[in-house]
Amino acid sequence: MNGTTTFLPSYDPCPEYNARLLQRSIPMMMKHQVSTHPINYAIWYEYVAGNNGKLTAAIDELLKSKQAFDDETSLSLYKNYICNASVESFEKINYALQALIENTANTVQDSSTQVASVGEHVSASSLKLEGIDNLSDVKNVLSGIVAETRELLKISNILKTKLNEANDEMARLRSELSMVREMATTDGLTGLLNRRAFDEILVKLIDSPLASSHCLLILDLDYFKKINDRFGHLVGDKVLRYMAGLLKQHASEHHHVARFGGEELAVVMPETTMDTALAIAEQIRSALDNSRLKQKESGQSIGKVTVSIGAASLKNDDSVESFVARADQALYAAKESGRNRVVHLL
Ligand code: GH3
Ligand code: MG
Ligand code: MG
Repeated sequence: MNGTTTFLPSYDPCPEYNARLLQRSIPMMMKHQVSTHPINYAIWYEYVAGNNGKLTAAIDELLKSKQAFDDETSLSLYKNYICNASVESFEKINYALQALIENTANTVQDSSTQVASVGEHVSASSLKLEGIDNLSDVKNVLSGIVAETRELLKISNILKTKLNEANDEMARLRSELSMVREMATTDGLTGLLNRRAFDEILVKLIDSPLASSHCLLILDLDYFKKINDRFGHLVGDKVLRYMAGLLKQHASEHHHVARFGGEELAVVMPETTMDTALAIAEQIRSALDNSRLKQKESGQSIGKVTVSIGAASLKNDDSVESFVARADQALYAAKESGRNRVVHLL
């Protein structure tokens, strides 16, 4: 795996999970008379998975206004919320970079042709000088050489200006590219790393030699559905963002905080012992347990919000799947044993 950014959407590989989403999405597509082709399936898969807040809001808006899901609408949903608008930006930057390289190469080629021709004139003039013995002819040849030298200076100045311009344009494109790359790895709702970035980080971690302890936390809000049902999806979103903020606050600088999916967040903790990972997990758990969240506008209390956390440390023979599965089992154990707790599996 190299460090390049992929713009392909990434999905949870679990067959049972995907089968559940299939069972839920097909009837919905039928109900809304959406043809079951792959683009539409991707859209409704994400809708029922509930991982893509902006897509969900866009679909809810379309449903509310009773707008038809024609192919044009599907394609625009797919481009904007699934395949990521960054594909277009990436293509634009790629095109601009190619044009820039071509222009610069042409400029350098033109300059070198001009320089070669001036060089030939100067050589010819030098040859002429050898056979001359009168002063006014020498003067004529020399003033020719001075003119050619001025021409050379002009070519060199033009080249310098064009190369400077190319340099500025390259810097502009580079910063645009890094913005696009950031968009492609950032979760729109929480500002955390998205699932794609999380997967890439884990692949790299597992590919590197296991010289020290690496840990993983998976966090899932308790009874989050109730919060959505009672206060609405937008309040649910705010709780999720608040939770994301807590994770950022308590995780160390070298940890990677990501949205694992839906209301599940994760922290990849390279070079971290299980004791430290558990201490941080406990800080996050108790910070949320002690928060008294209120609705901004009405001041109405949201009630107690808690989180269950599963922790695992990387083993020698782990794959990404087995590492994540162990943290997930620990999370499940935390839920089963009463929620609002941290559990780790050896
Ligand atoms: P528990 O985890 O304690 O078992 O109960 P739960 O109610 O949290 O159950 P579950 O994890 O199955 O449900 C998660 C809910 O999270 C379902 C979905 O509507 C909601 N959800 C997922 N993503 C988002 C999101 O981006 N915003 C909001 N507001 N809700 C989301
Ligand atoms: Mg969940
Ligand atoms: Mg939950």
